[in-house]
Amino acid sequence: MKEWLSTTLEALNLVETMEQPDGFTRLGYSEEETASMSVFRDVAETLGLSVRRDQAGNLFARWGGKTDHVVMTGSHLDTVENGGGYDGAAGVLCSLGAVKALKERGFKPHNPIEVVCFASEESARFGVSTLGSKSVAGILDKSVENVRDRHGVSIKDAVESTGLDWSSIEEAERTKDEILSFIELHIEQGTQIEDHGAQFGIVRGVACPIRLKVKVEGMAGHTGTTPMGKRKDALVALAPLITFVSQEAEKLSNQSQKPLVATVSTMNVKPNVMNVVPGQAEAGIDIRSVDDALKRSMADKIIEKCRSLENEFNVTINIETLVDNPSILLDEELTARVKRAGESLGYKTFEMDSGAGHDVMNMAVKWPSALVFIPCEKGISHHPKEYSSLEDLHAGVEILAEVLQQEAGE
Ligand SMILES: [Zn+2]
Repeated sequence: MKEWLSTTLEALNLVETMEQPDGFTRLGYSEEETASMSVFRDVAETLGLSVRRDQAGNLFARWGGKTDHVVMTGSHLDTVENGGGYDGAAGVLCSLGAVKALKERGFKPHNPIEVVCFASEESARFGVSTLGSKSVAGILDKSVENVRDRHGVSIKDAVESTGLDWSSIEEAERTKDEILSFIELHIEQGTQIEDHGAQFGIVRGVACPIRLKVKVEGMAGHTGTTPMGKRKDALVALAPLITFVSQEAEKLSNQSQKPLVATVSTMNVKPNVMNVVPGQAEAGIDIRSVDDALKRSMADKIIEKCRSLENEFNVTINIETLVDNPSILLDEELTARVKRAGESLGYKTFEMDSGAGHDVMNMAVKWPSALVFIPCEKGISHHPKEYSSLEDLHAGVEILAEVLQQEAGE
């Protein structure tokens, strides 16, 4: 199995060695993603699965069953630019490996098992994430069709360049009845599993962000001739907010049961010229927690702080909410079964929340869903050095095989 995992991982990544100094670039609906998905098709067909492509470009590799109620597992094969070879690929690989393991055991599923490879999970190309799984869940907002990548290619054109028809993308939606459950395996992209001496992570919820854009309007002026007392320096007014966000997030997180993180992650200064007092300063703030009320109260504290900065520095501050998505809680019963399955194999588990979004959050809107994390070295992800050991991938295969066997039944 380990030999198969190693060669299949390389094949899915379209390389002969995982040592790639520039990493992997397979953007959503690109030729590279399509090439990787066609390897997925070959591997799945070699395992005896029948592969279907839906109207959103997702691939489903189906195995047997006497009912029409599918147990689904899988992830994605697209990457960010110069990303790693495990984000997404590990989940697809372990799902295929689990089917291979079950076949070798002579298992015959009562409910069909489908391994899915979702299209365009990363937001790297268009700034819009999880296009494939949103389509399956029926929650794709079709108004994104004209969103363009940095080369001016729209989502609609990118989708159609792979041989699909944008006007029929909603036909990719699956009914509630068709899918019994969905289980995604993904690399952790953090170090909590290792920090807690565990072998794998069981995710309770996926934290979705509140994103604020804070825009400070001051008054530009000559740095040499505008006296200190007469300035409306937008950057000076914004500066205390950066420290505030960091300190307040830490305080709120320590006081509550569920963790919260908040980051001033972007900044723009206008005119950004050496001899001009900044007349405008803009900051982007990303707030995450699976506790939506806690997230809201962090946002409220930021708004309150902005009001006091306005008075203190004689500037105007506008706050725009760019994103405010409720967090997704995964299915408690399915999650408990996944945890038990892993523990029955002797693996130590750690229950945690996910700070990053995954395809599973869309599936969870409609179907009982669970998310399993395997460790990745030093938590490095979206980077050429991203790495999960063959031992961890193999553990992932065993856990998935155990769960799929239980969920599909014989
Ligand atoms: Zn991913």
